[in-house]
Amino acid sequence: MSLMFNDEQQMIRDMARKFAEDQLLPHSEAWDRDSHFPVDVIRSTAELGFAGIYVKEDVGGSGLTRTDAALIFEQLSYGDVSTAAFISIHNMASWMIDTFGSEAQRKAWVPRLTSMELIASYCLTEPGAGSDAASLKTKAVRDGDDYVITGTKQFISGAGTSDLYVLMARTSDNGAKGVSTFLIEKEAAGLSFGANERKMGWKSQPTRQVILDEVRVPAANRIGEEGHGFRFAMAGLDGGRLNIAACALGGAQLALDKALAYAKERQQFGKAIADFQATQFKLADMETELQAARLMLYEAAGRLDGKTPDATRWCAMAKRFVTDTAFKVANDALQIHGGYGYLADYHVERIVRDLRVHQILEGTNEIMRVIISRDMLKG
Ligand SMILES: Cc1cc2nc3c(=O)[nH]c(=O)nc-3n(C[C@H](O)[C@H](O)[C@H](O)COP(=O)(O)OP(=O)(O)OC[C@H]3O[C@@H](n4cnc5c(N)ncnc54)[C@H](O)[C@@H]3O)c2cc1C
Repeated sequence: MSLMFNDEQQMIRDMARKFAEDQLLPHSEAWDRDSHFPVDVIRSTAELGFAGIYVKEDVGGSGLTRTDAALIFEQLSYGDVSTAAFISIHNMASWMIDTFGSEAQRKAWVPRLTSMELIASYCLTEPGAGSDAASLKTKAVRDGDDYVITGTKQFISGAGTSDLYVLMARTSDNGAKGVSTFLIEKEAAGLSFGANERKMGWKSQPTRQVILDEVRVPAANRIGEEGHGFRFAMAGLDGGRLNIAACALGGAQLALDKALAYAKERQQFGKAIADFQATQFKLADMETELQAARLMLYEAAGRLDGKTPDATRWCAMAKRFVTDTAFKVANDALQIHGGYGYLADYHVERIVRDLRVHQILEGTNEIMRVIISRDMLKG
C-alpha cells in the first residue's frame, strides 16, 4: 500500500478488495461466458456505500473523495473489470443529479440511486455523434409542462436493465450550448432498447441502443437550465475517466499477479520460465509501468479533489496513460502464459478483452490527446 494514503483510505481499499475477492472474482469467468449482468450483486454494493461514493451524505451518499473512489474502483476491478466499470457509470450518473439537480430533484432521485433501488445509465453517444458528442441530434421539444424527446442513443451501458437514464438531448440549434440533460424512467411510453450488442469484452453488462420515439418527459425532469447539459456531461466525464482508468489498473494488477505466479510455476527447458532473464525483464517492466500509471492516476484524482485549474487536463492524461499501460501489461501477462494465456480458464484473456474498450470509451485516447494538447497550447 502506498504511503500516499491515510488509515481511513486503507480501510476503504481493504473493504473494496474483500468484496471483490468474495463476491466478484469467483464469478467473473461465468458472467463473461454467459453474458450475465449481475444486478443483484451490483445492488448489494449500496450497503458498502459504493452506489454514491462521491455523492453528498444528506441524500444517502458516502461523501468521499475522487481519490477514495479511484481506490475503490481499482480494487473492485481486481474482482471483475466489467462489473466494476458499470458501477462507476452508475456513480457518475448519480453524481450529476446530486451536483447539478435542484434540491427537489436531489431529494426525489438521489436516495433511490445511492440505495440502488434504482440503477442509472448515462446516455450521450449517438450513432452519428461519438467523439464529436456536441453534434448530437436527439431532440427535446418543449410542449407545455413537458418535453417530447425523439432520437437514438448508441452504446449505452446497462440499457434495457437500468431504471433511470441520464440523457443529453438538443433543446436548441446552438451547438454544445443547445444541449440539456433529462432524467427518463425506464417505463416511459415511447422508450425502447436495441438488441444487446455482441462485443469483445465487458460482457457482464449489456450495451444497447436507447431509442426514443416521442417520449414525453415532465419539464421537472430537466436537470439545471436549458443549454447547460453538455457542460454537465463533460464534468461527469472528468471523474468518470479517473474511474475507468482505476478499473483498468485493477484488472492489469490481477493479470500481473497471475503472470508472476505462473512464471514461477511453469517449467520449460528444465527450469521455471521465471529463471529466464527475458521473463524477468518483462515482469520488471510490467511492475514499473503499472506503478507509474498508479502514481499518475492518484495525482490526477488529487487534483480533481483539489479543483485545480488543470484537473481536466490531468484526468485526460491519466485516462490516456493508465488505460494504455494497463492494456499493455495485461497483454504481456497473456504472453507470459504462452498458449494457456489464450484459454478462458486462466482468466488473463478476459482481462485483455475487457481492458481494450477502456482505450475507447468515455472519450477515446486520441480525444484525450486533443484535450491535453488544447490545454497546453491555449493562451
Ligand atoms: C462497450 C461500450 C460501452 C459504452 N458505453 C457508453 C455509455 O454508457 N454511454 C455513452 O454515452 N457512450 C458509451 N459508449 C460510447 C463511447 O464513449 C464511444 O464509442 C466513444 O466516445 C467513441 O465514439 P465512436 O465510437 O463514435 O468513435 P468515433 O468518434 O467515430 O471515432 C473513430 C476513430 O476516430 C478517432 N477520432 C475521432 N475524432 C478525432 C479527432 N478529432 N482527432 C483524432 N482522432 C479522432 C477516434 O479516436 C477513433 O479512433 C460506449 C462504447 C462502448 C464500445
